[in-house]
Amino acid sequence: MPIPTENVGSLPRPMKLQEAIAAYDKGEITKEQLTAEQDAAAKDSIERMEATGTPIVSDGEQRASSFATYPITDTLAGTGLADNLAGDGQFFAIFDDGHHRQLPRLTGGPFRYKTYAADLFEQSKPYATKPMKQAVIAPSMLYLLYPLKEELEGYSREQFLDDLCDEAEKDIRKAFAAGAERVSIDFTEGRLANKRDARNPWTGENLLQTFIDLNNRVIDRFTPEERKDIGIHTCPGGDCDSVHSADVDYAELLPSMFQMNAGYFLIQLASETDKERVYKLIGENIRADANGVKQVAFIGVIDPLNPTVETAEQVAQDLVTAAKHIPTDQLGATDDCGFSPFSIDVKPKHGSPDFARDIAFQKITAREQGVQLASEQLGV
Ligand SMILES: [Zn+2]
Repeated sequence: MPIPTENVGSLPRPMKLQEAIAAYDKGEITKEQLTAEQDAAAKDSIERMEATGTPIVSDGEQRASSFATYPITDTLAGTGLADNLAGDGQFFAIFDDGHHRQLPRLTGGPFRYKTYAADLFEQSKPYATKPMKQAVIAPSMLYLLYPLKEELEGYSREQFLDDLCDEAEKDIRKAFAAGAERVSIDFTEGRLANKRDARNPWTGENLLQTFIDLNNRVIDRFTPEERKDIGIHTCPGGDCDSVHSADVDYAELLPSMFQMNAGYFLIQLASETDKERVYKLIGENIRADANGVKQVAFIGVIDPLNPTVETAEQVAQDLVTAAKHIPTDQLGATDDCGFSPFSIDVKPKHGSPDFARDIAFQKITAREQGVQLASEQLGV
C-alpha cells in the first residue's frame, strides 16, 4: 500500500462565489441563489480534486463561512449567527501581514451548533465518485467563544465545556454517519497558544494543555477503531497567504500534541526552515500505541500560501528524508494547511482566488505523484 495522503480541507472560493457571499450579506440575493453558487463551486472542487489522482477528496469547504465558524454563522460578516452569540468576541489570530480574524462572543447558554459539518458534507457528497473526508473544528478553538476570564451569569464555563464537548462529538459522529471516510480536527490554535502576543491576550494564558485535555475529552469518546480515522491538523495559520505563529518553535507543541489520542496528524512542514529537525521531533514524540491506536504523521509537502508549484521529486525527497526519522508505517503526506480556510480570501500572493484554485490542483497533483515516487523508493 502506498504512503497514505490527504488534503487538509479548504480550497479558495471562486471570485464569483465570494461576490455572491457579499451580495447575500447585503440582502441583494436570496439564500437559494447563494446555495446555487456554493453547489457549483463544490461540484467543480470535487471534480478537479478527483482529477488530480488523489485517493480521497473534499468539497474544499465551499459552503463554510470558515473552518472555525461553520457551526455558528452562515457568513463571516455574521449573517445567520447562531443563538446566544454576538459578533464582537476575541481575536482568534493576528497574522504576520497585520490582518486579524475575530471570533463571535458567547452571551449566554446553552451553546449549540446551528450547522454540523455533515449538513454541508451531505450536500456535496453526490458530486463525488471517490471516498471523501471532512474537516471539523476543534473544541479548543470554540473554547475561545467564552470570555477569557469572567464567568457568564447563568452559564458557567463548565456547563459551556460540557455542551461544547457534546456538540463536537456529535459533529464528528454525524460526519462519519453521512459517509466521510476520515474526519480531521482543525487545531491551528495549538501552535498559536504559545505565541504570547501581547496584542492578543489569550495567547499569553498558557492554554495549550487546557486545549489538549479538552480535545481528548471528545476524542476519548471514540473507540480505537474509530480513532484510526480521526485526525488532528496543526499549522501556523494560513489566511490571505499569511501565517500567525510560524515563529513558535514546534518543540513547544509536538510533545503535547501527540498526547491527543487521535489516529493521525496533518502537520505543516513544507514551509518550515529546518524540516529535518521537525521530522526528528515527530519521530521522538509520535506514539505507536495511543490508547489502542497507532498514530500516523502526515507531513506537509505542499505550501498552499506560495504560488510556486512543488515538483513531484521535491515531494518524494521530503518523504524519503522524513522516513529516516519516522517509521514508514507511521508516515503520510499532506498539504501544510487548507488552501483558504476563510471563505473571503483573495489570495494576494497568487493575484486572484481563481488563479489560486488552478495552482492548488497542480499542487495536489504534485503531492500525489510525489507520494507514488516516494512509495517506490521506500518500497512501501
Ligand atoms: Zn491550517
